[in-house]
Amino acid sequence: NIKLSARVQAVKPSATLAITARAKELRAAGHDVIGLGAGEPDFDTPQHIKDAAIQAIQNGFTKYTAVDGTPELKRAVIAKFERENQLQFTPDQVLVSCGGKQSFYNLAQAVLDPGDEVVIPSPYWVSYPDMVILAGAAPTFVHAGADQQFKITPNQLKAALTDRTRLVVINSPSNPTGMAYSADELAAFGVVLKEYPRVLIATDDMYEHIRWNTDTPFVNILNVCPELEPRTLVLNGVSKAYSMTGWRIGYAGGPAPIIKAMKKIQSQSTSNPTSIAQVAAQAALEGSQECIKEMVAAFKQRHDMVVKALNDIAGIECLPTDGTFYVFPRVQGLIDALDKVNNDLDLAEVLIERAGVAIVPGSAFGLNGYARISIATSTDNLTQAIARIAKLAATV
Ligand code: PLP
Repeated sequence: NIKLSARVQAVKPSATLAITARAKELRAAGHDVIGLGAGEPDFDTPQHIKDAAIQAIQNGFTKYTAVDGTPELKRAVIAKFERENQLQFTPDQVLVSCGGKQSFYNLAQAVLDPGDEVVIPSPYWVSYPDMVILAGAAPTFVHAGADQQFKITPNQLKAALTDRTRLVVINSPSNPTGMAYSADELAAFGVVLKEYPRVLIATDDMYEHIRWNTDTPFVNILNVCPELEPRTLVLNGVSKAYSMTGWRIGYAGGPAPIIKAMKKIQSQSTSNPTSIAQVAAQAALEGSQECIKEMVAAFKQRHDMVVKALNDIAGIECLPTDGTFYVFPRVQGLIDALDKVNNDLDLAEVLIERAGVAIVPGSAFGLNGYARISIATSTDNLTQAIARIAKLAATV
């Protein structure tokens, strides 16, 4: 009968981590389960990045570093922002954290108070709402279905803003939908946000590099609306781009007073991110970027195959995405057709039990009737998994 805090009781555990754990558990018990739940690239971390970390260990670079990251890594981050995003930051405007997740956590803790509202386009990355709730604030979800490519409109944004709104989150390309906002769409958000000077903006660019439409360069809201600079935080990290999820390095660039506050939170929680991982992240940012191209080419190939194959299954409709390693098909038809399956949670359960395929139900991201399928696994696995889903669908 241990009493837990009201704070922790208000928070859900991460649904995506749960499904991955469940698939692992079933596999360990001898079941043949193909996991399509993963939120991480299936590639190994590139060798030159590993080598840098090994060298760091050999050099004895194994002590505390500055809380906000080594000066060398911060220089690499600043150079990256300049080179790839045409954004200028000074060292006091950059904070390196233990993954992109901690960057957002620090931000929420640093700027939110009880009563504050945070506008979160839905479907959303599972962790935004709970980190907002942990900070005592309230998420305001803005719904965008497949009919609008899972993208909210400027009018919807405007309608969601109130006197209590403190933060708006933009995640493009998006986990879980894979959709990216165009420069024009972001500029239209900028027009709305200019009227709300109290509102901060977080642009989560974690999937910046995993995009197919390379005719147009990656853009975030600051690129098209530079006047938002005094109240915009750019969040990014090495996890997805360099297949470095386990290294736990994310970074943020933004207004110095907010970065300073985020750093203070971090100084009283984790202190610096792992010294060795920082050296690895620096090698990732400063080294050859070819490794990204190879991964993205593989994701694109799988994406094309999976979207087509899913659309061939009765009861499933899947939009092609702009990037990320997820697709987000509508599975309502399959839910309706299957006996005793009433929603996407039931469907996920049936798929794992009867078809041996683990997917994440759309409800975990705020949209019932959908599913998130990760393409961060081999083409063989994907082909087989989709054949299994098709077989189950053919029984109805
Ligand atoms: N932002 C988005 C949209 C993500 O999908 C993730 C990971 O799933 C993160 C941030 C955090 O990444 P990490 O903490 O692994 O660096």
